[in-house]
Amino acid sequence: MTAAPLFIGSEIYRGSSYGTWHPLAIPRVPTVMDLARALGWLPRDRYVASPRAKPAALAAFHTPGYLAALQDAERTQSVSDQVRARHHLGTHSNPVYPEVFRRPATAAGGSILAAELLRDGGVVYNPGGGTHHGLPDRANGFCYLNDPVLALKAFRAQGIRRLAYVDVDAHHCDGVEMAFDGDPEIRMISVHEERRWPFTGALQDRAGGAARNMPVPAGLNDSEMDAILDGAILPLVADFRPEAVVLQCGADALAEDPLSRLTLSNGALWRVVAALRPLAPRFLVLGGGGYNPWSVGRAWTGVWATLAGHEIPDRLPGSAQAVLRALNWSRARSRPPAPSLMETLADAPRPGPIRPEIRTRIAAVTA
Ligand SMILES: [Zn+2]
Repeated sequence: MTAAPLFIGSEIYRGSSYGTWHPLAIPRVPTVMDLARALGWLPRDRYVASPRAKPAALAAFHTPGYLAALQDAERTQSVSDQVRARHHLGTHSNPVYPEVFRRPATAAGGSILAAELLRDGGVVYNPGGGTHHGLPDRANGFCYLNDPVLALKAFRAQGIRRLAYVDVDAHHCDGVEMAFDGDPEIRMISVHEERRWPFTGALQDRAGGAARNMPVPAGLNDSEMDAILDGAILPLVADFRPEAVVLQCGADALAEDPLSRLTLSNGALWRVVAALRPLAPRFLVLGGGGYNPWSVGRAWTGVWATLAGHEIPDRLPGSAQAVLRALNWSRARSRPPAPSLMETLADAPRPGPIRPEIRTRIAAVTA
C-alpha cells in the first residue's frame, strides 16, 4: 500500500477554454503541472497521463442518450434546441467548446483509473477531476460528467465497499449526493457556502443517512475551517472506518475566488488534505471549482506538495514565478493580482474568531 503518490494529468487541459466570458476560460491543471515541474516535484515516474474514458465506462452513471448528445455536440460544435432543453448543453453555464466531450471524458478516465490504481492502497491525485455537479442525463454547473461518482463506483466494482467522500468546494456536491442517496456504505461530507447555487445541502439534509452537510456563512476563515476539520470532518470519517477516502478539493473557497464569499487561505485546504491521509489505506484527491487562475494553481500545486511530501518554499524560484507571471485573467485588468500571488505558494494565514453558528452547526452535523 505504500507506493509513492501518483499525479494524473493530461495535455488536453492546455489551451482548452469554455469560452472568453466563462469562469473556466482560465488554465488550471496546466498551471499545476508547470509549477510542480518547475519546482522539481513531478518526476516522470510519478506522472500518469490520463486515459480518456470510453462511453461504456461513463455509462456506469450517465445515460446513453446524454453521452451520445455530448459526443455529437463536440463533433458538430452545436446543439439543437431540444438537446439544450433536455441535456442543458449549449447554455451559458455549460457551453459547447472544442473539447466538450474529450476533456471531461479525460478527467473521468483519470478518476476511474485512479480508483483502479488504488486497489491495493496508496495516494493518487487527479486535479482535473472533481466535477461534482454532473447529473446522469444532463450537464450541470460547468460539469458535463461526474467523475467523483464514477471513481466511487470504480472502487465498488473492485469490491471496495465502504467509502468516504469529503467535499470542501464552496458549492454543494448535488450530483454526488443524488447518486448515493440512501447508500449505507458511503459517508458523504460537504462543507459549502450557505445560500449559494445549487441551493441544496441544507444542514438537515442527510440523503437517507448517507450525507452530512455543513453549510457555512460568508467570510469563513481558517480558524473556522480548522474547527470544522477537527470537530466534524475527521471524527465523521474516522468513525465510519472507510476503505477509501475521496476528497474533492475545490479551490473556490479561497479568499481570491470570484465565485464565492468564503475567505480561506490555501493552508486551510492543505491541512484538510494532510489530516485525511491517515484515515484510510486508499486516498484519492480531486480538484473541483477554482476560478482565480493564480489562487487555484498555487493551491492545487500545494496539495501535491502535501501528498508527495515536498517542503513548500517561502519564496518561489524564478522558474516557478515565471509560470505564474505568464497567466492572464480578464478580471485582473481592473484589479491586478497581489505580488504574493506570483512570488509565493503559501498564502498568509487568514485566522479569525470562530462564530457561534459554526460551533452550533458542528454539533448538529455530528449529532
Ligand atoms: Zn465550486
